[in-house]
Amino acid sequence: MTTNLQDRVDLTAVTRAAANAAKAGAASSDVERAGWLAAVADALDAHVDELVELADAETRLGPVRLKGEVARTTGQLRLFARVITEGSYLEAVIDHSVPSATPPAPDLRRVLKPVGPVAVFSASNFPFAFSVAGGDTASALAVGCPVIVKAHSGHLQLSIRTAEIVTQALTDAGAPEGIFALVSGRENGTALVQDPAVKAVGFTGSIPGGRALFDLAVSRPDPIPFYGELGSLNPVVITEGALSTRAAELAEGLAASFTLGAGQFCTKPGLVFVPAGTGFAGEVAAIANTKPGAPMLTDRISDAYPKGLQDLAAQAGVAVVGGTVDQYATADGAAAVVLSTTAETVLEHPDALLEECFGPTTLLIEYRDRAELERALGVLPGNLTATVHAQPGEDVSGLVDQLSELAGRVLFNGWPTGVAVNWAQQHGGPWPATTSLFTSVGATAVRRFQRPVAYQDAPQELLHPALRDGNPLGIPRRVDGVLALP
Ligand code: NAP
Repeated sequence: MTTNLQDRVDLTAVTRAAANAAKAGAASSDVERAGWLAAVADALDAHVDELVELADAETRLGPVRLKGEVARTTGQLRLFARVITEGSYLEAVIDHSVPSATPPAPDLRRVLKPVGPVAVFSASNFPFAFSVAGGDTASALAVGCPVIVKAHSGHLQLSIRTAEIVTQALTDAGAPEGIFALVSGRENGTALVQDPAVKAVGFTGSIPGGRALFDLAVSRPDPIPFYGELGSLNPVVITEGALSTRAAELAEGLAASFTLGAGQFCTKPGLVFVPAGTGFAGEVAAIANTKPGAPMLTDRISDAYPKGLQDLAAQAGVAVVGGTVDQYATADGAAAVVLSTTAETVLEHPDALLEECFGPTTLLIEYRDRAELERALGVLPGNLTATVHAQPGEDVSGLVDQLSELAGRVLFNGWPTGVAVNWAQQHGGPWPATTSLFTSVGATAVRRFQRPVAYQDAPQELLHPALRDGNPLGIPRRVDGVLALP
């Protein structure tokens, strides 16, 4: 199937259908929605070979990586099925009335409800896990929100086929009509963000693209939440103790991490702080330069890569330690480049040096002492991750405090590129990593698409089952200030 029909879709009909489905979505039970998610996961697994072939043709990511990503995507759908049947995602809270209190306290019961139709903008770099049936879609559907996906232009045919499979699976599982739709084209994307029926947006992509859509969402007559994941430098700090103990291992690990997937990971380690006066940058470059050039996701991205490298290399005080910035990534594939500078230079020109360069490159920053390191970290923007490599016994507590101010996930002696999909994950951070305080990966990603409502002195039969006496859903709740487990 090679069509682009979604560009000409009747957007009003799509959003009206989603608005109608919102009522059925909100009324559906957790068990029913868990069944929808499982059905989508099973259908994707059943079509894995066909989907991987389509994805490889459009993204050039290779069948091994893509097959793994389908597994991650279906695992993610199944995780959200478990999350909603466990029940704590509803944050049910009951405060019984206290007539003797001054003033008398009413019976108050609070639960989280679905916000309504959600627009999802797929990412280019994860054609499954952050795309049509990815984390945003799964977490919105999980809580009963209809989803309208704006397909990424970088993998349109894959998006259309995935949407067909998802739609069929949802229909077969008894989900309401209009609960899921796909559109494409920038015009439809911007119209979607402004459509009165849409109540929230999930986005993964560039800072300019995300900012443009965020501005549209908040300047509506009725502003809506925009959950954007935009850009991240993912700083890594290597202490003197770590470098003197295991330089070779660190060079291997760093080279593998920043070149993974041609450096097209939002968690790529893009800035690495190292003690001054060592040959570490050269060691990293020697390993990185043995890795073959790799095709990038889209021509837009591969055209931008050398331009970003050249801008960085043109800055006074920046050296190219390995690889070349004069490359034609669109035709030849993206080759690894290791750049180096000093903390002093970063402090002088933070705006020019702290730009994300999407591709297989990293900037090593030499610091002279802990005070200079802390000053340089102080000018960094927000990030998804921050990492410290240190030896047992080294005092890094102040450093860790500083890193946790900068990022949503702080790693110890590891590399940030892998993102586990589980209950504790936090994939989000201060601007520009994300536009909100929430995660877009892991169990609590559902919280983005839920709205709290408190019911005061409501009759039992009108309450959400999560709030009724006797706990008919058998879920964890907080009753009169005490956590009550089923
Ligand atoms: P992008 O250009 O921001 O595109 C993402 C989505 O937003 C696409 O659906 C795109 O539409 C739409 N869009 C972009 N600009 C828009 C605008 N001004 N108005 C309305 N819609 C707009 O991101 P990308 O193509 O995925 O990658 C480009 C860059 O984004 C990369 O080089 C990298 O720096 C960054 N990136 C970051 C992450 C992350 O996880 N943080 C992930 C991927 C990419 P079309 O598809 O129709 O163009």
